[in-house]
Amino acid sequence: MDMKQDLRQKMLTKRLELTTTQQENSLKIILMHLKNHPLYKRARHIGLYYPIKNEVSILSLLSDQEKTFYLPKVAGQTLIYVQYHANTSLVRSSLNILEPVGNLDDASLLDLVLIPALAIDKNNHRLGFGKGYFDRFLADHPHLKVIAIIYQFQKVEVIEHEPHDMPVDDVISD
Ligand code: ADP
Ligand code: MG
Repeated sequence: MDMKQDLRQKMLTKRLELTTTQQENSLKIILMHLKNHPLYKRARHIGLYYPIKNEVSILSLLSDQEKTFYLPKVAGQTLIYVQYHANTSLVRSSLNILEPVGNLDDASLLDLVLIPALAIDKNNHRLGFGKGYFDRFLADHPHLKVIAIIYQFQKVEVIEHEPHDMPVDDVISD
């Protein structure tokens, strides 16, 4: 656990040091890779995330008229996804993340979720902020496809993982 905590701190510090220009340049490459990815091309109902602490800001995907997008919302110990479009109202959650207001949607509608991470290793194991929300959500939806969106420096050799840690299907970075 301490190894996880050390890596979290190191990656968060490094990500917070990214300049706006670095983030914008990386984002262009990430969006290009994502739009060419078979899982993205095939998907119609896609879960996004509202970026915090310099997470890769992929909300511009919303302009893709061929897809329906969703944002996660904390519900007890897990997440639910709520439909999200340009005029959806957002409110700040208990975790200080903006979440959509509105009715709850069924996660079985989703074909793909894009999720942030602090690090991903060679076996697609993921390090998050340490609250386990995506692990619990993904454990409940084993067939849902998952792509982690990160900066190149967040790719590491190995993350000490625990039985509850859910690997992602693929990783996109700059
Ligand atoms: P993160 O994935 O955010 O980096 P961790 O993997 O360290 O964080 O998980 C944080 C905590 O969440 C764990 O200590 C564990 O107790 C809890 N957790 C994660 N997944 C589950 C699950 N499927 N069932 C119960 N508890 C879980
Ligand atoms: Mg985990």
